[in-house]
Amino acid sequence: MAGGPDRVRELLMQVWEPARAKALADAQVLTRMLNADGINGALEPWDWRYYAEKRRKAEHDLDETALKPYLSLDAMLGAMFDVANRLFGLEFRPIEGPFYHPDVRGWEVTRQGRHMAVFLGDYFARASKRSGAWCSAMRAQRKLGGEVRPIVVNVCNFAKGAPTLLSHDDARTLFHEFGHALHQMLSDVTYPLISGTSVARDFVELPSQLYEHWLDVPAVLDRHARHWQTGAPMPVDLRDRLLAAATYDQGFATVEYVASALVDLAFHEGAPPADPIAREAEVLAEIGMPHAIAMRHATPHFAHVFAGDGYSAGYYSYMWSEVMDADAFAAFEEAGDVFDPSTAERLERFILSAGGSRPAEELYTAFRGRMPGVEALLKGRGLQDVA
Ligand SMILES: [Zn+2]
Repeated sequence: MAGGPDRVRELLMQVWEPARAKALADAQVLTRMLNADGINGALEPWDWRYYAEKRRKAEHDLDETALKPYLSLDAMLGAMFDVANRLFGLEFRPIEGPFYHPDVRGWEVTRQGRHMAVFLGDYFARASKRSGAWCSAMRAQRKLGGEVRPIVVNVCNFAKGAPTLLSHDDARTLFHEFGHALHQMLSDVTYPLISGTSVARDFVELPSQLYEHWLDVPAVLDRHARHWQTGAPMPVDLRDRLLAAATYDQGFATVEYVASALVDLAFHEGAPPADPIAREAEVLAEIGMPHAIAMRHATPHFAHVFAGDGYSAGYYSYMWSEVMDADAFAAFEEAGDVFDPSTAERLERFILSAGGSRPAEELYTAFRGRMPGVEALLKGRGLQDVA
C-alpha cells in the first residue's frame, strides 16, 4: 500500500521526531532516579528498563490480579459481540457442535434475519496447538457461481479456567482477532481470490488493530467489564489507571521500533552495504538515536533484514497499520460518537466488505476522504505534546 520507500521514510520521520523528544525527556527523569541511587554518570541502555519499571510502579501501578475478575472471557465475548451489533447490526446466536474440538464454541451470525456467517471461537491453550493467536476462514465468502457465506475461526491460547479470566492484553488479542474475523464475515465480493483478508500486507492489520480501540472505550468497559462473581462494574479508578497505563514509556517503545524500521529500510536501498554494522551506525547517527536506547532488533538477529523478499524492508508495516487504525478510529471520534452509524457504514462499505477488490489506498481514501495522517497515532501514544 505504501507504494515506495520515500513515503515510508516520510511517515516514519513524522513519528520519529516527537518520539525522540519524548524519550529524551523521559531519559532525564530516569537519570535523576539513577543519580538518586548514588550512581553517577550517564543513563545507559541496560539501565532503562530497570528505572522505567521503578517509575511505572510509582506512577501507574496496575495490579493485573485486581483487573482480571472484571475481564472474564464470557464478559469480553459479550463486549466484542455488542460492539459489532452497535456498529454493523450483527447478531450472534450460539449454535451446537460438534465442532473439531470440544473446547470450540460456535455462533451463527445474522443481520436482520439474514445469514451472514458462522463464527467459531477456539480460545484455550492445549498441548497440540501452535502458540499465538490467529484468524482463518475455513470457507471464504464469494459470489462467483452462487453466493457462499464464510465460516471463520478465531484461535487463541488463553489459559482455561472456571471461569476463564483474561488479562487486558488477552482481551485486546480477542478483539484483534475478531477484527480480522469481521473482515471475513462482512466480505461481499465476487471472487474468492480477493475475499476478506486477501489484501496488501500493510493493509491487512487495519480492521484488527482498529477493532482493539473499542475495548478501551470507557462506556464499553463500564457496560461489560463486570466482576464475574458479583456483577459489579470495574471501579472507575481501576479503569482510569488501566487506560492511563497505555501511554506509559511510549517514547522508548516508539524510538526502539522506528530506529529498527529505518535501518531495515536503509539496508534495502541501493546496493547491499559492504559492512552492515557500519551502515547501521551511520543511520543511527543521522537520526540522532538517543544514547540510552538500543534498536529493538539488533541487525544480526533481525529477520526482516535478511529472511526473504516478502519480509525485507517490511518492518515499517506495523507502524503504517497503526497510523491507519488510529486515524480510522479518529473518524468516529470526530463524528462525536464511537458508534456513529454513517462512519460505521462507510467502514463496512469501503473496507470490511471490499476485500482486495481495489488498491488499499483507494479503499482507505474512500472511507476517510483522505490518506491517513500521524496525528491520531501521536495522540494515542501520548507523544503529541512533546513535538
Ligand atoms: Zn492481526
